[in-house]
Amino acid sequence: MTSSGINPLHIAIAGGSIGGLTAAILLHEIGHDVHVYERSTSALEGRGAGIVVLPMSERYFTERGSALGKGRAGAADVALTLTNWSYVDQSGAIVDEAATYNRFTSWNTLYRALLEVLPGDRYHLSHYVTGCAQTPEGVTVSFEHGESQDCDLLVAADGIASTVRGIVSPHTTTDYAGYVAWRGTVLESDLEPDTAVIFEDAMVYQVLDHAHILAYAIPGPGDSIVPGKRALNFVWYRNSSGSGFEDLMVDRHGVHRPATMPPGLVQDRFVAELRHDAERILAPQLRELVLTCEEPFIQAIFDMAADRFVHGRIALIGDAATALRPHVAAGTAKACADGWALRDHLGTGDDLDTSLADWERQQLDLAQTVAAKSRRMGQRAQFESTMVPGDPAWRFGLFGPGD
Ligand SMILES: Cc1cc2nc3c(=O)[nH]c(=O)nc-3n(C[C@H](O)[C@H](O)[C@H](O)COP(=O)(O)OP(=O)(O)OC[C@H]3O[C@@H](n4cnc5c(N)ncnc54)[C@H](O)[C@@H]3O)c2cc1C
Repeated sequence: MTSSGINPLHIAIAGGSIGGLTAAILLHEIGHDVHVYERSTSALEGRGAGIVVLPMSERYFTERGSALGKGRAGAADVALTLTNWSYVDQSGAIVDEAATYNRFTSWNTLYRALLEVLPGDRYHLSHYVTGCAQTPEGVTVSFEHGESQDCDLLVAADGIASTVRGIVSPHTTTDYAGYVAWRGTVLESDLEPDTAVIFEDAMVYQVLDHAHILAYAIPGPGDSIVPGKRALNFVWYRNSSGSGFEDLMVDRHGVHRPATMPPGLVQDRFVAELRHDAERILAPQLRELVLTCEEPFIQAIFDMAADRFVHGRIALIGDAATALRPHVAAGTAKACADGWALRDHLGTGDDLDTSLADWERQQLDLAQTVAAKSRRMGQRAQFESTMVPGDPAWRFGLFGPGD
């Protein structure tokens, strides 16, 4: 029996990133027999761009009285806090400033903290899920290496390009939003001290013509959050369409990369164009940041929203269910929220199908609301050019600003 008195389920989770791990830990803790199957051959590594820590992203740790990273004996906090949100104009002058509270950490910190909690024999690397089939009893999951596993419930936490979603919901499309995020990080210590000062305790935004850029501190090498030893991260949203977009996503070796262009692979001519525009239109602080970055990279922005999250005994969570545009900074929090809600619904004592139906209703509602908000923000900033400095709608959040 589980802690809530219901029969333990055999649960397979496809994908062992933030969403899959959170769901696994919570469902394991209430007594279900959970196994995570991750396709990667080794423990995952973050993309180095940092993540915004919303309350839901670190709920597991705060509920146990151990703010992320603080729970381990003697460990310092591994998230940094910024308490201002500043907008600058092209001259670099602050045109709007508000007190806020945002925490940032490295993706690795959150991933490692979660991985430490799940018993090691429940996390299986090198398990690429290639198929799933509903049976009268549940689901049979098959792997690339030829094995298969039967389970009562398959949780698909396998990201925006989800294999499982491709099988159960093949009509769901992933649509390019018409703009990309140029991203990059530099060491805080590589900037002139006069330039770096604005980033000490603030998220910095500049609203541009049909574009916008933001920059903020994230943990530096060794996850350092000590001022001066942190990194600075910029995200510059730039419109790109048609053949221009197709060309942009061809790397310096001629390989087409439809979604992300890693550091070091962007063609020189596009980096030169970015730098030229930085010289022309950015505030001095942001300009220096972009010009100092040696290897900017590109993330194309997509919309993807499955219209159902539950297909028989298969549940889609996190990015596999709905991918949010980054403006709300809530992708990680939503993946965690899906896991928490699954735990709540699978612990009610209702039969599995009823529990899943209730879970789906609740999480579809949340996902549709926040996805619509993130799309609206993108449309306003990039196509209508109606984003204005100081607009409180721009605050990060899953349920509402800061939450
Ligand atoms: C390695 C990695 C690094 C990241 N770094 C950052 C970052 O620095 N900043 C940031 O904002 N976001 C980052 N993200 C994205 C972020 O984790 C997600 O956008 C968000 O947290 C939602 O998480 P998710 O678990 O739903 O999906 P994802 O994080 O996308 O995870 C999906 C997981 O499923 C695995 N997978 C995919 N297909 C299969 C399959 N067929 N079989 C088995 N496993 C499969 C993938 O390897 C991956 O581990 C990163 C994701 C990954 C995987």
